[in-house]
Amino acid sequence: MTSVSSDRLWNPFASMATLSGHQVKIVRGEGATVWDAGGTPYLDAIASLWYCNVGYGRRELAEAAAAQMADLAAFHTFEFSTNLPAEALASRLADLVPMDDARVFFTAGGGSDAVDSAAKLALAYWAASGEPEKRTILSREGAYHGMNAYGTSLTGIPLLTAVFDPLVGLVERVAWDDAAALAAAIARIGPQRVAAFFCEPVIGAGGVLAPPDGYLDEVQRICRENDVLFVADEVVCGFGRVGEWFGSQRFGLRPDLMTVAKGLTSGYVPLGAVIAGERVAEPFFREGSTDVFRHGYTYSGHPTACAVAMANLDVIEREDLIERVRSLEGVLATALKPLADHPLVSEVRSGVGLLAAVEIREEARAERPDLVPGLVKAARERGVLTRGLRGASLQVSPPFVVSEQEIDRVAAVFAESLDAAP
Ligand code: PLP
Repeated sequence: MTSVSSDRLWNPFASMATLSGHQVKIVRGEGATVWDAGGTPYLDAIASLWYCNVGYGRRELAEAAAAQMADLAAFHTFEFSTNLPAEALASRLADLVPMDDARVFFTAGGGSDAVDSAAKLALAYWAASGEPEKRTILSREGAYHGMNAYGTSLTGIPLLTAVFDPLVGLVERVAWDDAAALAAAIARIGPQRVAAFFCEPVIGAGGVLAPPDGYLDEVQRICRENDVLFVADEVVCGFGRVGEWFGSQRFGLRPDLMTVAKGLTSGYVPLGAVIAGERVAEPFFREGSTDVFRHGYTYSGHPTACAVAMANLDVIEREDLIERVRSLEGVLATALKPLADHPLVSEVRSGVGLLAAVEIREEARAERPDLVPGLVKAARERGVLTRGLRGASLQVSPPFVVSEQEIDRVAAVFAESLDAAP
């Protein structure tokens, strides 16, 4: 496709006053590398936005899309119909998740649709269970749950939410690392009014924060004790990113609801899902029930998207990519560790899957507010793509096909960029 000016395009999360007309045009990808329109290659240290798990340039995913489109590109799944890829994918996902008798509700876009759907499903579940007063949803400070209305309200990153708050009522955030704070919030609000607790197994966009030891066991126990649904937001952690199919398996969770997207298709096409365990599905599936989850999207269960997801899962299984993540977890941690000694770095967080963040010292950021964007740019100029998380740290979440040499290169380029910082 020939290039025209990019000044008509409005980028998400970007200062268009300076960016407009100067975007980097990415035109091609292969493995962990993407190329811009001028032919410059970049090692993608973040798998685009944490999603390109199987790497770029997989023809088999393109062929799966083309084959499905030739038969039936799309047909809705509202009310009465289904399609073969959606059925196949639902039963495959139900077998992969650590949940009994799971049911899969497909959403259209990415994780934001899945999060808002899960929040609404939690309320619909309690209404169908005769407890319609259970409506408050809790989440964690630092959490990211997407940018639809519920997700924005559940997100605990003030920079992203301040302009919009309050959007959805009856949401509350608790400390990200303190189970007692969750227990206290439930006790204060009253368990009879709390519907669900949303929790990323490892907080992603909030800065790659692994749960403190015992934290997830404890919050899961508190939710059970208080009859609060435990919702694992697996949009980043799912499909191998943390060295298991799901973060829930890595941390021994059995969620009531799970949200997935990103790695489900490795981003080749957008697709998300809410996966409901037996308990949440029961009031709607029970013989004779008249309860209906009145919710859905035009493209829920889109056959082409589901066919691509099937091909993506085939690649993950055939190439043992989750095992590969496990074997690269230590390699990544070892490569990034020396950066912790750099005077501009306060902490390197790594050690759970192919996920890491290099935190830049607060004092340095306060002195130079453009320090993190400057480091991102410096790394890009040296051929490595990363991004700033919360304006405070550099993200690392490469495709699973990344090589050990490429991981070393990410670390070397980060070190050079830090050394070159003014
Ligand atoms: N939930 C989590 C944990 C995420 O990290 C994201 C996106 O990064 C979302 C939800 C929203 O997903 P999307 O941007 O695909 O709508």
